Amino acid sequence: MTIIEKHSRPGGRLNRLEMEGFTFDVGPSFMSMSYELDELFSSVGVKSPVKLQELDPLYQVYFEGNNKPYRIWKDLKKLEEEFKGVEPNLAVKAEKYLKRAGEFFHDTEDKVVKANFNNKLEYVLKLTGVPLKHLPYLFRSMWKEVENNFESEEIKVIFSLVAFFLGSTPFETPAIYSLLNYTEMRHDGYWKVEGGMYKLVEEVDKMLKQRNVKYVFNKEIVGVDRDGDKIVSVVDQDGHKYEADLFISNSDAAFFRGKVLGRPEFNEKKLDSMDWTLAPFTIYLGVKGKIENLAHHNYFLGSNFRGYADTIFTSSISPQKPYYYVNVSSKSYAECAPEGCENVFILCPVPDMRFKKDWSDKEDLAENIMSDLSKRTGFDFNANTIVKQIYSPVEWAEMFNLYKGSGLGLAHGMNQVGAFRPKNKDEEFKNLYYVGASTTPGTGLPMVIISSKLVTERIESDYAALS
Ligand SMILES: Cc1cc2nc3c(=O)[nH]c(=O)nc-3n(C[C@H](O)[C@H](O)[C@H](O)COP(=O)(O)OP(=O)(O)OC[C@H]3O[C@@H](n4cnc5c(N)ncnc54)[C@H](O)[C@@H]3O)c2cc1C
Repeated sequence: MTIIEKHSRPGGRLNRLEMEGFTFDVGPSFMSMSYELDELFSSVGVKSPVKLQELDPLYQVYFEGNNKPYRIWKDLKKLEEEFKGVEPNLAVKAEKYLKRAGEFFHDTEDKVVKANFNNKLEYVLKLTGVPLKHLPYLFRSMWKEVENNFESEEIKVIFSLVAFFLGSTPFETPAIYSLLNYTEMRHDGYWKVEGGMYKLVEEVDKMLKQRNVKYVFNKEIVGVDRDGDKIVSVVDQDGHKYEADLFISNSDAAFFRGKVLGRPEFNEKKLDSMDWTLAPFTIYLGVKGKIENLAHHNYFLGSNFRGYADTIFTSSISPQKPYYYVNVSSKSYAECAPEGCENVFILCPVPDMRFKKDWSDKEDLAENIMSDLSKRTGFDFNANTIVKQIYSPVEWAEMFNLYKGSGLGLAHGMNQVGAFRPKNKDEEFKNLYYVGASTTPGTGLPMVIISSKLVTERIESDYAALS
């Protein structure tokens, strides 16, 4: 088996950046549904070598004008204490909210999320097996759901932040995704990876090498050669051909069909009209000194959540008062930064390149964020930064072939999930399959692990039928 990869190292968005003794995780910073990772290893008879540590508090949240962050505890009594005077009876309210979200999660996880569908009818029939009591969930937004359950703006905003993990806003995300609150606070929680997230890639990489899997790096697949309804080889940018009996594309499942296969249903106009997740704007800072007011995971929010979410992501200008997430893995793993230093990763969701094509102002946005962060933490980032790297949506698009820089691939509205998402089996070529965030079931590390299981099942059943 050979993996042909556009980037210079394995991992895709789950990558690593190294600068002068600092190491940074390029994209993902936490793991959820950790049992999916265990199953990935156990499926090949190996006990997971990755060491995970559960986060509690999950993260801390700074609101504009308040220097004291809220810590988000999994223990609801502790959470209620944290929000004393802000949200009365929080434990009881959160318990009710999470119970409902948990029921939806368990009623759909195996039936819908972890299942292959051959066609839309089969999918709709599967959905009829989901208890009817969940129906209203489909027709309201995540924001409406938190509004129905909580009173304070702070708790509503915090419980709806999970919508951003799906690359959208809570005003556009269906209420069904409150199941993510259940997965973070109740079911399996959030986990950090000892030594940094890239350990996941290193361990999978070891396993692949033991099984003689070969890599070819810095090669982008730009075309295919066909023989009837089969692909005989894929072709890279230098015209080199790679022959095989079976092909699996981990490139974006919609973009690949348009760009490489030239399918009219996925041409630029059609792709532009689909719903895509927000683009990442990321900054990697190696700084001298220890930053007292930052924890491993932190959110910095403004004071106009609705206005911000409604306007910023379809705008052609950079956000003036950005909302952002800050990760400092050296808080947990000292080896990620030289002694007396910290590695700071900042992620700010921004419009993708359909809306804002020109990112030549990236230094200005980075400076804006760094000066806001300096004010809010009392640490002078400008004076203490030793190394800095910025990735705007342009770099994200170029590095990993992300459509117009969309960070998580296709969005997860009801019209783009299940049988309505690009399939993991090609419509025309009998020996071409897809895996990853823009095919089923969706985005995020646990989902792409499930995606690999689904495509394996699909291939096994297709080839069993042939023999
Ligand atoms: C900033 C950011 C933060 C995130 N944080 C989290 C998090 O904390 N937790 C979480 O669970 N998820 C997180 N995610 C989501 C997660 O990273 C993705 O869902 C997941 O990594 C997608 O995996 P994938 O295999 O589908 O795609 P990728 O990881 O993008 O892998 C696809 C690979 O294919 C290569 N490729 C593409 N086209 C071609 C081609 N034509 N020829 C050759 N090679 C090609 C790319 O270079 C890439 O290496 C985050 C994503 C981003 C961007």
